[in-house]
Amino acid sequence: MKPHKEFLPVPLETSLVLIKPGGVSRRLVGEITRRIEARGLAVVGLKLMSAPRSLVEEHYSEHQGKGFFESVVAYLCSGPVVAMAVRGENAVRAIRAMMGATNPLDAEPGTVRGDLALSIDDNLTHSSSDPEAAARELALWFSEGLPA
Ligand code: ATP
Ligand code: MG
Repeated sequence: MKPHKEFLPVPLETSLVLIKPGGVSRRLVGEITRRIEARGLAVVGLKLMSAPRSLVEEHYSEHQGKGFFESVVAYLCSGPVVAMAVRGENAVRAIRAMMGATNPLDAEPGTVRGDLALSIDDNLTHSSSDPEAAARELALWFSEGLPA
């Protein structure tokens, strides 16, 4: 007999979260990390760093050529960021939902952006949009590797 789908194991995913310079300067590292952990997700990689421009350009390569590319790259290089690898069941989708819509004015209350941000230029966090993007971004930001 085939097992009922509820009993099939849910695959663990690992996602990249960045707390952007505005989140670090506003002392929101603890608040954002608290929300991620309270949801039941595990932080498996964590570092505070000044991101080199080449890394940020590669990270946002999908947006190259768009009007906001220069400003978004400059913003991410304007101060320290926290890079975090977060693991759990359906982590990629769960984290995107927790962060809220790209434009904080459209983000629901209860989300990080809906509660803590007002401007698309300073929307506090990045999180991977799908598992393929997560794998690509984690290889960039955690090139030293992560625990299995
Ligand atoms: P992120 O990739 O930072 O998690 P996102 O996936 O919600 O955000 P993207 O479409 O990937 O949104 O855009 C990357 C970043 O570029 C956004 O976080 C935002 O700061 C900026 N951005 C996106 N669209 C616009 C826009 N129309 N005007 C100004 N800035 C924008
Ligand atoms: Mg994005």
